[in-house]
Amino acid sequence: MEKYMNDLIIIGGGAAGLAAAVAAKRSAPSMQVTVLEKKDKPGKKLRATGNGRCNITNTALATAPSTIAFFESLGIPAREDSEGRVYPFSESAPGVAEIFTDQLKVLGVKLQTNAPVRAISVEKGCFAVETEKKLFLGKTVILATGGKAGPAYGCSGDGYTLAKALGHHVTKTLPVLTGICCEDLPEALKGIRVKGKLSLICRDKVVFSEHGEVQFTDYGISGICVFNLSRYLKYLGEEKLEPYTIVLDLAPERSFAAMLSSWRRDTVLGEKACVDAVSGIIKPPLADLLLKQANIKEKRKLSELSVSEISALDGHLHRLRFKPVSTMGFKMAQCTAGGIAAAEVDGKTLASKIVPGLYFAGEILDYDGPCGGYNLDHAFNTGRCAAEAAVAAILQGDHHV
Ligand SMILES: Cc1cc2nc3c(=O)[nH]c(=O)nc-3n(C[C@H](O)[C@H](O)[C@H](O)COP(=O)(O)OP(=O)(O)OC[C@H]3O[C@@H](n4cnc5c(N)ncnc54)[C@H](O)[C@@H]3O)c2cc1C
Repeated sequence: MEKYMNDLIIIGGGAAGLAAAVAAKRSAPSMQVTVLEKKDKPGKKLRATGNGRCNITNTALATAPSTIAFFESLGIPAREDSEGRVYPFSESAPGVAEIFTDQLKVLGVKLQTNAPVRAISVEKGCFAVETEKKLFLGKTVILATGGKAGPAYGCSGDGYTLAKALGHHVTKTLPVLTGICCEDLPEALKGIRVKGKLSLICRDKVVFSEHGEVQFTDYGISGICVFNLSRYLKYLGEEKLEPYTIVLDLAPERSFAAMLSSWRRDTVLGEKACVDAVSGIIKPPLADLLLKQANIKEKRKLSELSVSEISALDGHLHRLRFKPVSTMGFKMAQCTAGGIAAAEVDGKTLASKIVPGLYFAGEILDYDGPCGGYNLDHAFNTGRCAAEAAVAAILQGDHHV
């Protein structure tokens, strides 16, 4: 087997690995840096981010100015939207991946694609990193293999296996930022989008609430607020969602109780079937579901309802219930919750506290953020920090395995 000697080996050419490679070469141009990427080109997931627009950071993050400056240094100016989400000015995720790839060439980083790493061991004071055909020796290693989310982009949890073999522990991993499958959703809801306040209730306690748009799909619900809610299902896992109920408030800032009462007394509107009256307030397929949950027959006339039934109707406009049964899993998830145990990693340098010379960056770490640029920001920043720390350790002769 051919052998190659390196100062730094970066395993994984995604957002974190690419940022790490650039940062390492900028800090120490003469160092031998190699990126080993499993897929046929780097940044497969990066190219798909932000619906092809690549939401790189969020102005709510303290790290946003540094991420924006890093992008500008690559020749990628940024722009932000009204909600603080920051994108490359071009709004082109593939464009960002191409610029990173070009930078690697310009800086002299060795990029090996179609090179899935199968094993890492420590041999005679350095790391031995094995792909199918080659052996790479390195003074330092950054594990930037991502998590398990989006296996189509190359992430199937390899990094956890590699880290475990070196003595690390991995906390429970769960798919987050994903759609949620719900029980007994009427077929007619498919394709409907509604705005409202979405909450997650666990044993009578509200554990998450967010305003946003909910999209009904063939499996359940999707949309940014649903993705963000999915992060709060993580602790019990997909298979145990019994204690959870999802509640949608279709009119968070408004009560329809007085209006419904006056319609009930009105000689014309009072003659309307309940389903028709409610369909004047919300989308018709939702009206069917609401009446079912309020236990009121669709065809009953509004004038026939009691005062308490009118109040129940208004109440259900504010608490349409859905029973989650599972998430859409890692295949469709945008992120992995859980990862390399935080206690085993130095929070500043991202250095392993178990194996000297080993560093972690990106989604492999036990971090997950909401939608809006948090996860890419984390990947770019941990990648850069890990690379700078690895280079500093080599320069100080402090990297010994
Ligand atoms: C569809 C989609 C859209 C998203 N949009 C956004 C967004 O707009 N903003 C945001 O903040 N976040 C977004 N995310 C999340 C974000 O993309 C990830 O959190 C981020 O890419 C993680 O970076 P990473 O480098 O740690 O992992 P990845 O980007 O997943 O890269 C890991 C790399 O390691 C490689 N690899 C894995 N195993 C091996 C191995 N054994 N040997 C060699 N290489 C290996 C993989 O092929 C991959 O290229 C999105 C995710 C998805 C799936």
